[in-house]
Amino acid sequence: MFDKPEKTPVNKPYRKLQVDDLPIIETLQKLDYRVLLSEYLEKNGKQLKPVQRRKNAKVRVPKSMSCPQCGAPSEYLYANNGDKGQYQCKVCSCLFSQKNRYLKEAVLKCPHCSKTLEKIKERKDFDVYKCKNNDCPYYQQKLNGMSSKEKKQFQKDPQSFKLRYIFRQFRIDFQPLSKSSPIRPKVDLAKLYVSPHTLGLILTYHVNYGLSARKTAALMKDVHGVSISHQSILNYENAVALVLQALC
Ligand SMILES: [Zn+2]
Ligand SMILES: [Zn+2]
Repeated sequence: MFDKPEKTPVNKPYRKLQVDDLPIIETLQKLDYRVLLSEYLEKNGKQLKPVQRRKNAKVRVPKSMSCPQCGAPSEYLYANNGDKGQYQCKVCSCLFSQKNRYLKEAVLKCPHCSKTLEKIKERKDFDVYKCKNNDCPYYQQKLNGMSSKEKKQFQKDPQSFKLRYIFRQFRIDFQPLSKSSPIRPKVDLAKLYVSPHTLGLILTYHVNYGLSARKTAALMKDVHGVSISHQSILNYENAVALVLQALC
């Protein structure tokens, strides 16, 4: 399946730096549409009805789509301004698009000042996030570390200096991969509940660093605050391996 490196780099001192370079990933509180629906019933004395669709509605909500925040099925999703790919959940009112579906579950924060990172660029395969906080220690340190020559240059052309914390989040779209795969893995990667970034972290620890699924689960919880069972980690590994095999 995967080639494990001969020496696992677990004990190398630069690891601390690597971890520091990652943003703080805060997972949003997940809601459960079943709980929300029964609360609605209790409060209003009637069921919340699924969305009424006009017969010749231009935009359809894909059957397989569910709300990223509460898990409500497609019957409860409005195609809000469907051409632009915006949807709204009738149950929890959350707005989302197919593109930012995964981002809904995590907020990226600067590891140096804990302020929320701002998305400044969208590229084909990755998004660029930046810490725009002027009081950020990372920024302050870079700013104060400049020579007077550099400061003059900076005033003329601030763009040529990288003074702020920047993070690139890669978007790996597993959807086309899993569709074309002739083998059905236990876990459908297209319906994965974790973001591609989180999946990447899990695979890095589990496959590249050779940590056991249990240790990886503990690390995800302690370092990144993401609760995930070791069984899910094994399932992900299995699913990714099958998809990769099918591609080769
Ligand atoms: Zn919802
Ligand atoms: Zn910062």
